[in-house]
Amino acid sequence: MTASSTGPIPPGAIIGILGGGQLGRMTALAAARLGYPCHIYTDEPNSPASQVAAKTTVAGYTDETALAAFAKDVAVVTFEFENIPEITAETLARHVIVRPGPRCLAIAQDRLREKDFLNGIGATTAPYRRVTSVQDLTHALRDLGRPAVLKTARLGYDGKGQVMIDGSMKPAAAWKAMSGGASAAEGVLEGFVDFEREISVIVARAPDGTWAAYDPVENRHVHHVLDTTIAPAAIPQGLADKAIGTARHIAEQLDLVGLLAVEMFVTRAGGILINEIAPRPHNSGHWTMDACVTSQFEQFVRAVCGLPLGSPARHADAVMKNLLGDEVLRWREILAEPTAKLHLYGKSEPRPGRKMGHVNRLSPRKDQQS
Ligand code: AMP
Repeated sequence: MTASSTGPIPPGAIIGILGGGQLGRMTALAAARLGYPCHIYTDEPNSPASQVAAKTTVAGYTDETALAAFAKDVAVVTFEFENIPEITAETLARHVIVRPGPRCLAIAQDRLREKDFLNGIGATTAPYRRVTSVQDLTHALRDLGRPAVLKTARLGYDGKGQVMIDGSMKPAAAWKAMSGGASAAEGVLEGFVDFEREISVIVARAPDGTWAAYDPVENRHVHHVLDTTIAPAAIPQGLADKAIGTARHIAEQLDLVGLLAVEMFVTRAGGILINEIAPRPHNSGHWTMDACVTSQFEQFVRAVCGLPLGSPARHADAVMKNLLGDEVLRWREILAEPTAKLHLYGKSEPRPGRKMGHVNRLSPRKDQQS
């Protein structure tokens, strides 16, 4: 079915979500407030999302019988992570509306396809080369120079499957670190961007093409994992407008219905290079839950159900801090801070680096103080 083949999906209809993580959990909570029950499809028992959803199917992502039953039960399907087999989205799309559509998923889950697509529509990335062997990598390093970053083409996230190649690292060692010694592997070598800061923009797009964007934010990573988001990013208005315009352009060229997060590098020369895109709610949008008129999760539900988009206006400045691993044990102190808003994901084991929750610390908008 095409994304525009129906009118609005009314409250009471069931929203299907592929994936059971915290993004699905926060989407299900926002959906419930608007009167929509959610049905989570995940391969993980007792997932963060299923704890708060009306229904859960626990099955493999290529289980055709389970997928068919899921499709029958829901009015629309969306997803909360993009590493879902392409065949899953395509199978579902034969039975039910899938928003964003399978093409968005196919592009966003493969770094090479994504970079080819972005550069093809004039949204520039760092220079890159496809590499499938140590020999390719040796040539690509000669072309792009060092330092450079080698990434797996697929299934990489939060810095996993990523190798920083400095002046001395041998191509064979880098290849082994990325591929884990697998004989067939596909990677992307990216030129290293000596960025001034990292920012992201989240844009929502409805089936009728209307759109709304949140203010660009600054993201700080620790060991390749998002640690802190500062909203808004301290960048000139012209650059903020350009970042929003670029995100909107990408969403339109994808014909995306839902949310698109666009991670960007701000270069030292004041330009923008796209790092990566995600066609779903994003960790760098968690601040919107407490600092905006409409949170990214409510906006996602509105877009996917074909409802009018809400205002993305920011009523406060915010700093979002991820609570990784043991950091979650500080919940008591955080709750004692008067302007801190705590969000926990219901995960029982605080393994090192695991995203257990986040806290939004609010302050009055600096640009409105006289
Ligand atoms: P990614 O998983 O591609 O988003 O990468 C995680 C983080 O690694 C980014 O947010 C950057 O901080 C850093 N990084 C990734 N690619 C590059 C690059 N080409 N140049 C410099 N830093 C990078």
